Amino acid sequence: MLIDLRSILDRPGARISFNTELDFSDFMFGAQKPVKEPVYVSGEIFNKAGVIFLLADVVTNLHCVCDRCAADFTREYRSRIETLLCEKPDEDDTESYPIENDSVEVDEIITSAFVLDMDSRFLCRPDCRGICAKCGADLNDGPCGCAEETDSRWAALKDLF
Ligand SMILES: [Zn+2]
Ligand SMILES: [Zn+2]
Repeated sequence: MLIDLRSILDRPGARISFNTELDFSDFMFGAQKPVKEPVYVSGEIFNKAGVIFLLADVVTNLHCVCDRCAADFTREYRSRIETLLCEKPDEDDTESYPIENDSVEVDEIITSAFVLDMDSRFLCRPDCRGICAKCGADLNDGPCGCAEETDSRWAALKDLF
């Protein structure tokens, strides 16, 4: 989505609102394609004392497979993008996005921010216990018989020191 900035470029206080929907369903994160739903973006570009800012809220649902226990789960994704837009950003300026011909390509900004922000690892919950490597039991459902055995081996190791 190309946004024409001529109405705000030389007008401090002026703003433009925008809404867009992006499709990242083919994007790989980790070994998965979790962005199966549309990504909704609502944002604003405004001129504050001659500096052009872009703010955007990005929302979707991620459909993932847990990297530890292999369970399917859905998680809401929300993030806020805040960046500067510059007519001639310096080459080493990684904070700003370029304004070209008085307009800005919003999809590119959202896409690169989204990719940078996304996890490459997905857990159904931060403390997921995963699957027992020995018997394949889902350890979130409670300990399997193997756990005790491992514990006693660790205890034996500790005794050595
Ligand atoms: Zn899990
Ligand atoms: Zn087990």
